[in-house]
Amino acid sequence: DQAMYQAKLAGKGRYHLFDPEHDRSVRSHHESLERLQQALEKEEFVLHYQPKVNMRSGEVIGVEALVRWAHPECGLLAPGQFLPIIEEHALAEALGEWVIRRALAQAAAWRRAGLELPVSVNMAARQLRQRELPARLAELLAEQPDLPEGSLELEILETSALGDLALISELLEECRRLGVQVSLDDFGTGYSSLTYLKRLPAGTVKIDQSFVRDILGAPEDIKILAGVLGLANAFERQVIAEGVETLDHGQLLLRLGCELGQGYGIARPMPADAIADWCQEWQPPTSWAQQAPLAPG
Ligand code: C2E
Ligand code: MG
Ligand code: MG
Ligand code: MG
Repeated sequence: DQAMYQAKLAGKGRYHLFDPEHDRSVRSHHESLERLQQALEKEEFVLHYQPKVNMRSGEVIGVEALVRWAHPECGLLAPGQFLPIIEEHALAEALGEWVIRRALAQAAAWRRAGLELPVSVNMAARQLRQRELPARLAELLAEQPDLPEGSLELEILETSALGDLALISELLEECRRLGVQVSLDDFGTGYSSLTYLKRLPAGTVKIDQSFVRDILGAPEDIKILAGVLGLANAFERQVIAEGVETLDHGQLLLRLGCELGQGYGIARPMPADAIADWCQEWQPPTSWAQQAPLAPG
């Protein structure tokens, strides 16, 4: 368990390693929950935003909000370092609500600055088990009355719907009637993908980065990708590839007919105030613009 936790941390080289031994306040689970509660009250959480683009046209189609904890002693902590501590706790709902409120306020600020950028937020499983979720979303949206429909997207994991598919599908339908978009995150990593694709009212499928990362060298992953694209097409869902790490990834995705992408090769997640400049400056590489799809459709 501890080894897995460490391994998870080791993969996040860009963050400070969070050694619990060096922070008395996170000695026990109980204490860390309390510390996270305080962090929420003290506004120590921040959102970074990662652009999602049309790799062919260069259009920035939105941004994904990704939470970080600006820990006063440990520096910027990645979500994998603190979200697991609260996922079984009501605090996950409180943090989730803070994330949505902050992201919507940011979208409204961008809009006032002339930038139309839908924001996506990641939903914890607990948030999707709240019967009052649509009502809460309606209230949060009402705090930003200038935002047009479609400004908010919920990224959900198919595993969040495990066991509760009918209920969660209905809940998400209600969210959609509020003009909220839904996408299926990390698609392909769950095991009931077809049922979930059929039943969950998600307009977009995000192909998990593990499939995208290896497509350059692995014919098997190309087949999975082509298959998911075909499926998504048949179900009339949009597809976006996450983990577009290099120019070559984008190029191959375009040839496979996948135009939407997100990843380090396009932009890393960044603070809100860096987004406007980035949108102004970014252009798809010429090699992408010239890339013709292998097959029509
Ligand atoms: P996710 O929603 O699948 O987000 C994508 C993760 O991959 C982000 O990590 C992002 O920084 C990273 N990433 C983006 N492009 C690339 C790439 O090209 N290569 C690689 N290797 N990684 C890339 P991050 O920010 O550490 O977030 C990890 C996960 O934490 C997210 O996965 C999401 O499941 C969860 N998360 C983040 N913010 C929130 C939040 O506000 N609420 C909830 N419930 N979960 C969140
Ligand atoms: Mg996501
Ligand atoms: Mg994802
Ligand atoms: Mg993920």
